[in-house]
Amino acid sequence: MATVGQIIDGKAISEQVKSKVKEGVSQMIEKGYRAPMLVVVLVGSRKDSMTYVRSKKKVAADLGIVAIDKTYPETVTQDELLQEVRSLNKDDSIDGILVQLPLPSHINEEAILTEIDISKDVDGFHPINIGKLAMKGREPEFEPCTPRGCIELLDRTGIQIEGKNAVILGRSNIVGLPVSMMLLKRNATVTICHSKTPNLPEKCREADILIVAIGQAKLVKKDWVKPGAAVIDVGMNTLDNGKLCGDVDFEDVKPVASHITPVPGGVGPMTIAMLLNNTLKSAQKKLIK
Ligand code: NAP
Repeated sequence: MATVGQIIDGKAISEQVKSKVKEGVSQMIEKGYRAPMLVVVLVGSRKDSMTYVRSKKKVAADLGIVAIDKTYPETVTQDELLQEVRSLNKDDSIDGILVQLPLPSHINEEAILTEIDISKDVDGFHPINIGKLAMKGREPEFEPCTPRGCIELLDRTGIQIEGKNAVILGRSNIVGLPVSMMLLKRNATVTICHSKTPNLPEKCREADILIVAIGQAKLVKKDWVKPGAAVIDVGMNTLDNGKLCGDVDFEDVKPVASHITPVPGGVGPMTIAMLLNNTLKSAQKKLIK
């Protein structure tokens, strides 16, 4: 019988990834190398950013990765921040640099992200890394964490990508675009939809794999989904009652999809796991050089 409504447990899968990272870190230390090190640059005191940084540091510590934050006041200038990134680039004891976004409006995010050494770009957002991700025959140093997390969820659930129709809702630099490029590299036939795409439900119904990253609470309903499709919901929206929900109407779509990620507990936990996986990979690459 065909699979219906199977929940992809992102929490459990992220634990598998993290336990592999922990093992990799222990092996490095057993061989006498230092622990991998991640620096998180935080500007200002946005509550959400501070929470994200805290949880990245906590999970890193659980896995044996040293994570420190460099915190700057909202008033920091772009030049001061560029100087900081340059000095982190030069420091051989640092394997990964992550600039927590968003930055205050007087700072050009692109200028800061472009300054990060691509060999330490564990967030995978440097234009060179994104360019390599897009190009046939090239591999980026690191892949962006949330998109990579989506692919891991598909792979570890045994969902075939090659030859399938993948429809991506959303074309942002941090999710929709990179996940589309990853699926293309894995030989899916990829359709990217966005706010100007007409007939969205019809386009989505062509998908064997539907990935949704638009930031619109519960927009995707069951009549948008082909029976038996796998649905990955990247959305994180806060409802008026304070509860978190995805871009997909989970209860409505679950009976139609073969597999579906819940929110919370789907893509969310994968992001930090993939970040720390990238940090370990960076430290391991330095040993080989
Ligand atoms: P974003 O930068 O705001 O981009 C949203 C994309 O969705 C844009 O391409 C936009 O089209 C498209 N879009 C918006 N409304 C639409 C609609 N009604 N119909 C069709 N397309 C529409 O968002 P993002 O940063 O990619 O994030 C998307 C969601 O994922 C958010 O809920 C965010 O919180 C969540 N997220 C989760 C994680 C995680 O770790 N789980 C990580 C990152 C993001 P245009 O390009 O035409 O404007």
